[in-house]
Amino acid sequence: VSLAAGVFDGLLAIVGEGAVSGDPADRAAVAHDLWPKALIDERQGRPTPPPDCVVWPSTRAEVVAIYRLCSATHTPVVPFGAGTGVCGASIALRGGVALDTKRMAAILDWDEASGHVRVEPGILGIHLETACLERGLTLGHYPSSLVCSTVGGFLATRSVGQLSTRYGRIDDMVAGLEVVLADGVEVSLAPQPATGAGPDLRRLFLGSEGGFGLIVEATLRLHRVPERRADVAALFAGFHDGIAAAREVMQTGLRPALLRLYDPDDTALQASHLGVGEGSGALFLGACEGRTGVAEAEASALTEVCRTHGAEIVDSSAVATWYSRRYDIGFQQAKYLPVPGAVLDTIEVAAPWSRLGLLYDTVKERLRQRLVVLCHLSHGYVDGACLYFTFAGMGGDEDTALPLYEELWSTVMAAVAECGGTIAHHHGVGLARAPYIAAELGDGGMETLRRIKRALDPNGIANPGKWGLDR
Ligand SMILES: Cc1cc2nc3c(=O)[nH]c(=O)nc-3n(C[C@H](O)[C@H](O)[C@H](O)COP(=O)(O)OP(=O)(O)OC[C@H]3O[C@@H](n4cnc5c(N)ncnc54)[C@H](O)[C@@H]3O)c2cc1C
Repeated sequence: VSLAAGVFDGLLAIVGEGAVSGDPADRAAVAHDLWPKALIDERQGRPTPPPDCVVWPSTRAEVVAIYRLCSATHTPVVPFGAGTGVCGASIALRGGVALDTKRMAAILDWDEASGHVRVEPGILGIHLETACLERGLTLGHYPSSLVCSTVGGFLATRSVGQLSTRYGRIDDMVAGLEVVLADGVEVSLAPQPATGAGPDLRRLFLGSEGGFGLIVEATLRLHRVPERRADVAALFAGFHDGIAAAREVMQTGLRPALLRLYDPDDTALQASHLGVGEGSGALFLGACEGRTGVAEAEASALTEVCRTHGAEIVDSSAVATWYSRRYDIGFQQAKYLPVPGAVLDTIEVAAPWSRLGLLYDTVKERLRQRLVVLCHLSHGYVDGACLYFTFAGMGGDEDTALPLYEELWSTVMAAVAECGGTIAHHHGVGLARAPYIAAELGDGGMETLRRIKRALDPNGIANPGKWGLDR
């Protein structure tokens, strides 16, 4: 352990025996998240250097004391939820302390009249959702990693679930937030349905990736479990026809929980899993949730929009099959990446409707010669949508795998800049997007971020070295 003198003992005094460790196995377990570059590096014999120790606080008072100690001793602190981030955000670039939130995983309070639940950050999404369902409630947040990621991670990366078109992104679910800043100051933003009390400080901490301190509590908005789900499946002649239909859906006020359109390459892959036809064209899956009459009426309006745009309506049982397998696919990545030469990643971006088709064409055009490029549209908004690309291929051998991986990222990020999209929709920034954030935020935006960072983290100890900032 190469921490400054007294830090390890100081942590031990705060959290007690068994809640801090410098053991190599404990440190290795939190050395990185599921960023594919870190996995390729590991495969090629360059493991990510781990933090110097891991601490598992159980209370907010311990968190405050940890940050005070680390701030005073200029020791980096990097929060660790479940480590399913895919951008390297939890890598302790400058060593220091990994603050694992596992022991802060309680449900603290229910306000069922308001539909609020107050939780600690280390609770797994699936544990929270299960507790909600027992009360006839749902958070409505279903990332593919629901079973293995934490609420703190959702908030710190601005996660988006599969049914976001109806339920919103995690940002929309936050009614109240409690944060411990990097120097130990406590911020308490009480749950409200809406507030106009100055700038929205709750939002400041969403997407903060541990860069301002630790989110220690959140009050989240819940919904009643829907009475009915009405499914629609359709095949469009091409992806652009489907995009036009999705735009009409969103701009005419429909809000299906599931709005998902696969491009022809992705359709070819999905069709056999989902049992829909030969797999030609662009497959659309939609699901409307709510009161029975409303869900059914919305599904028939959705069907009508699809038909208007030339789609063939196909067996809607494909949607039920998709629901039953919706947490399976992501885990294939971990199996595939150990293969020498393999390159695999997903990149989610977004753009306004007017530029979405161009962005899609540009990315496909530039990378399809080198890699398998699959894409689906999901997460609809009135003014645009997310494009979620999956890239897979072989670099030939290990020497070419990493250059191909780097080229993949720089090509997509350049296409986004050219076409007027945003570099990230829901996986955060981490190290993967650090080289590209300045181009998106501009000089003024970066200066604002730098000043906020300095003000909230005066000693530069909160997950330092991220966001393309030097501290
Ligand atoms: C198979 C798979 C499927 C996925 N599907 C989705 C998906 O559908 N939608 C989606 O949005 N994402 C998805 N992800 C990405 C990932 O699961 C999310 O980013 C998730 O929010 C990360 O949560 P975590 O608990 O694992 O966070 P971690 O990876 O542990 O941490 C992520 C970042 O948040 C910081 N952090 C963690 N807790 C706190 C806290 N309490 N306070 C402050 N900072 C904190 C960490 O320091 C780090 O910077 C997927 C990942 C995988 C592997």
